[in-house]
Amino acid sequence: MTNRNLYHLLQSRFSHARDNLFLDHARGMLSYGAADEGSARIAGALRAAGAQKGDRVVVQVAKTPEAVMTYLACLRIGAVYIPLNTAYTAAEVGYFLDDAAPRVLVCDPSARGRLADVIPAGTEVLELDDSGRGSLMAAAQTATPVTQIEPCTSDDLAAILYTSGTTGRSKGAMLTHGNLASNALALHDIWRFEPGDVLLHALPIFHVHGLFVALHCAMLNASRVIFQKGFDAGAVVDSLPDATVLMGVPTLFTRLLEHPCFSRATCANMRLFISGSAPLLPETFARFEQVTGQRILERYGMSEAGMITSNPYGGPRIAGTVGFALPGVGVRVADEAGQVLGAGEVGVLEITGPNVFAGYWQMPEKTASEFRDDGWFITGDLAVMDAEGRVSIVGRARDLVISGGFNVYPKEVETEIDALEGVRESAVIGVPHPDFGEAVLAVVVPAAEAAPSAGVIHSALRGRLANFKQPKKIVFRQELPRNTMGKVQKNLLREEFADSFSNR
Ligand code: AMP
Repeated sequence: MTNRNLYHLLQSRFSHARDNLFLDHARGMLSYGAADEGSARIAGALRAAGAQKGDRVVVQVAKTPEAVMTYLACLRIGAVYIPLNTAYTAAEVGYFLDDAAPRVLVCDPSARGRLADVIPAGTEVLELDDSGRGSLMAAAQTATPVTQIEPCTSDDLAAILYTSGTTGRSKGAMLTHGNLASNALALHDIWRFEPGDVLLHALPIFHVHGLFVALHCAMLNASRVIFQKGFDAGAVVDSLPDATVLMGVPTLFTRLLEHPCFSRATCANMRLFISGSAPLLPETFARFEQVTGQRILERYGMSEAGMITSNPYGGPRIAGTVGFALPGVGVRVADEAGQVLGAGEVGVLEITGPNVFAGYWQMPEKTASEFRDDGWFITGDLAVMDAEGRVSIVGRARDLVISGGFNVYPKEVETEIDALEGVRESAVIGVPHPDFGEAVLAVVVPAAEAAPSAGVIHSALRGRLANFKQPKKIVFRQELPRNTMGKVQKNLLREEFADSFSNR
């Protein structure tokens, strides 16, 4: 039987090129061969700590080559990798440890004291610091390397990603070796990775974008990865002439555009800029093309399914859309009752395919409620599809505003506000209202120059949007609250402005 372990697939793609450079990082270079050996040694350390196939390994560490090798080591032994955002507090980490019940926790030595109270008894703790040292690496030096790759089926778990979860408990999306492998192969193919490609990596590696999408594509291609610690616009600008592909969140592209040295010449060697994780403003897309001559390729995905749609590599890349379903992936737009809607109608996006996760960790009821009877997963994203199957994301279903019984899609209102002179961006939310149930409230970020007043915005919208869609209130902010992946945190805005219309 073929071994469906994802690491088996990755290794088969770089085994002919063990001398190729893999991670080009602040402390030096790591070849594919060295990464393979390093992961075998770390796998030995994890085994010595008791981790077996199916055991969870929770990892909260800085972005280092050793952290990447720890991920590969988990794949190699069939353990379930659970990366955590480095910004999570001890209380948050405590929740994940209780929920996932890992065999091993890998954390920064400086976090050990802070986490002491929340680490369940019986959890082995290994340390890895931001320069790639710690008890994990010491154990890796002495442990017997695990050179074989644990036999797995496509359905065996490879990772659990905890969703950012803006409401209620954070859910662990269970991803199988088959989910990750199918998605990696599809992306490598449709984005036309070619010999000589060099990936510029400035994303965190605790999320689907930086960990799976970026690293898997590079590894399937035995490509060099310029591995930057975090996002620094200057460092990206300096490295662009050596790279051919960059993946980023929308904020990365706006920051690049603000950088004085960013130009067409800096990007001359680049063949592909990919954006995702949050909506890319059409204005950013247009400015990027003006400055560089390149059209950003926007794609859409989520923790539960990896990548779902992508603008075409060869065909037109259209701002404000996320393109077509990936090969093998099915997408449809349906109403709340599950009735499939026609082209041009807004509803919730539902998906099926080998990329769709195996369910939420230890939440069978939650899992069941998010799948239709025919097995399609309800993404919770509001979308509209054109007759050709091109998808546009309109917002999260939970961000939908229902005012006086009418549906208001925030994106529609935001697009009108963003188009006004002097507006940089906006976020439209629904807040409790005594008459309407919910009222539309717009949070507007002015551009550096002259900002329009609330009165000017109100009158500009009057002719453009139906009455019920117009904001009942407009407030100004210097910036919108965003998480590390660039997503606007509307839940925070809803909390802040919850009392805007209450009868007091
Ligand atoms: P996460 O699970 O943290 O990766 O978040 C996934 C969510 O990010 C999706 O359900 C969408 O709401 C949003 N998202 C990702 N990519 C895009 C995109 N290109 N445009 C709009 N929203 C996006």
